Amino acid sequence: MAEHIIVLGGGVIGLATAYELRMRGLDVTVLEVQAFGGQASGAAAGMLAPYSEIGEDPDDFFKLCLSSLRMFPKWQQEVKAASESSFEYTESGSLHCVYHEADLLSLSTRKGWQKEFGVEAHILTRAQTKKLEPELSDEVIGAIHYPEESHVYAPDYVRALEKACERTGVALYNHLGELTLEEWESGVLVRSKDGRVFEADQLVISSGAWAKEFEKLLSLNIPIYPIRGQICAYKLAPERIRHIIYSSQGYLVAKADGTLVNGASEDIAGFETSVTEKGINRLTNWNYRMLPFLKEETPFHQWAGLRPATQDGYPLIGRLQSAERIIFSAGHYRNGILLSAVTAKAVADLAVKQNPSISLDRFVPERFS
Ligand SMILES: Cc1cc2nc3c(=O)[nH]c(=O)nc-3n(C[C@H](O)[C@H](O)[C@H](O)COP(=O)(O)OP(=O)(O)OC[C@H]3O[C@@H](n4cnc5c(N)ncnc54)[C@H](O)[C@@H]3O)c2cc1C
Repeated sequence: MAEHIIVLGGGVIGLATAYELRMRGLDVTVLEVQAFGGQASGAAAGMLAPYSEIGEDPDDFFKLCLSSLRMFPKWQQEVKAASESSFEYTESGSLHCVYHEADLLSLSTRKGWQKEFGVEAHILTRAQTKKLEPELSDEVIGAIHYPEESHVYAPDYVRALEKACERTGVALYNHLGELTLEEWESGVLVRSKDGRVFEADQLVISSGAWAKEFEKLLSLNIPIYPIRGQICAYKLAPERIRHIIYSSQGYLVAKADGTLVNGASEDIAGFETSVTEKGINRLTNWNYRMLPFLKEETPFHQWAGLRPATQDGYPLIGRLQSAERIIFSAGHYRNGILLSAVTAKAVADLAVKQNPSISLDRFVPERFS
């Protein structure tokens, strides 16, 4: 009989992992307290942009992100085939723009260390940058062009993962309300508010910004907390902007459906997912310095989500030493969409007792305990 595994949390991390676990032959059940993809994953801009996001340090986190980016061309095809559905995946490349002479030096530093990892990067003058994106402001003094960076339409990607799970035989339960983990030593037993009991051999905890709730129960220190991201979108003629436009103040991503997504502010507001005037103004007070035409435009849509941040900025991925039936997989902060592919594969490796192809030493979930 196949091993049975429960995945707690139906965001991008839980669903991608559930699908991969099913592909490894396990019986998989996903339990979600609200709606699948209803939290951070459905709110994300969908950038797969490790080179823009991580400029300082070629550490294990960068390697994790890089390996996921390189998995994506094949992974997204697999998810599309398994789900018999489609979602936008655009290999747009990105322009990481700078506005001050002093920042040009940091671009060459980045390019220097990224080269060791085979990253394709080109430092561009203002004229070269504007040749690639003519709508960019003249305030831009240069950019680093990363042809490999890409993006997905996150809500559709998460829906496709859900469908891929459904079509491959993962048992999916959402809107369960409160769930209680009652047993994790002699087996796994989770009880829902309405009295249903779910039993398994192993458990994956992928409940994003809510993962801290297991701290007391498992006698662990789990410093995961929500950082609200506020984000907005404009209507845009197709092809008007072709690259991800990234800067130290925010980013703009043009989607195939004719929207331009502008993200994202960061603030601490507990589990509040409302949008504030201050949060959106933080974007609109700056975005026209990237694309001047935005000064005349008003966003048609604004929303927010809760990034699962951790104390040291790295996710918690690994099997618990103190509770060997439990694999922890949360805290993907700003890069959970990007990291979904590599996380799914690494957690599935752990579940079938294989060594993950990438080192998880830096991400040991018990490192704070
Ligand atoms: C505005 C914004 C923009 C972003 N842009 C990007 C981007 O461009 N690229 C990128 O890679 N990342 C981006 N991110 C980050 C990314 O969205 C997150 O890292 C990722 O979605 C985390 O996925 P998750 O599945 O861990 O969390 P979530 O999507 O939050 O899912 C966790 C799920 O667990 C459920 N849950 C909670 N408690 C329990 C429980 N006890 N039992 C069962 N279920 C439970 C929740 O209801 C939720 O559905 C962005 C985030 C935000 C907010």
